[in-house]
Amino acid sequence: MKNDQHDETGRTLRLLMLAPPGAGKGTQGERLAAWSGAEHIAAGDLLRAAAQGQTELGREIAAYQASGDLVPDQIVLDVLLPAAAEAAARSGFILDGFPRNLPQAMAAAEFAAGRGFTLQATIYLQAPEAVLMERLLARARQEGRSDDTAEVIKHRFQVFAQTTAALVPYYEERGILVTVNADQPPDAVTAEIKDRLAGLSD
Ligand code: ADP
Repeated sequence: MKNDQHDETGRTLRLLMLAPPGAGKGTQGERLAAWSGAEHIAAGDLLRAAAQGQTELGREIAAYQASGDLVPDQIVLDVLLPAAAEAAARSGFILDGFPRNLPQAMAAAEFAAGRGFTLQATIYLQAPEAVLMERLLARARQEGRSDDTAEVIKHRFQVFAQTTAALVPYYEERGILVTVNADQPPDAVTAEIKDRLAGLSD
């Protein structure tokens, strides 16, 4: 694929990014968006934005995020799918942090089928937990996210292992899983992803 929103056959990019906390979904998602012209949609960012609202819904989302638990599926779908639908109609999307459980994965499949497109690849960023913990604690000192304390980070790892990791075999079985080693410098990770996407089919 080259550097605009369509690949050489005129198709837009429709990628999912699956990764434990700290693996670099956000960084890589932004880079892939800049490279491809597709829109980077980060579930965590959209939910954090929604959590700013001084409403009951905003407070509910903020509480889930602060604890490291998943926000309920219906809320996530309501926040995310309209953005994804708009992006799909324009330049394509790189969905980072969605889906995170099987019901969300099924909703994603239904969403795509309902609009007549496929999800081309799920990029799984893999790195050892000790590396991830170190990265997140470093980020905590800079950004001060409410869920970047050692205790909440551990809980987010647990949620990933117990719930989100089931999506690895799910997408493997569907033939669209692209596993990338995220325990290398960001440029090397980006290069590996681009390499692996070169043979992407629709
Ligand atoms: P990280 O991957 O480091 O945990 P994110 O910004 O992707 O960071 O997610 C932060 C939090 O946002 C999650 O712990 C969860 O509370 C909420 N969240 C993000 N995406 C989802 C999702 N798809 N389903 C439910 N909750 C989500």
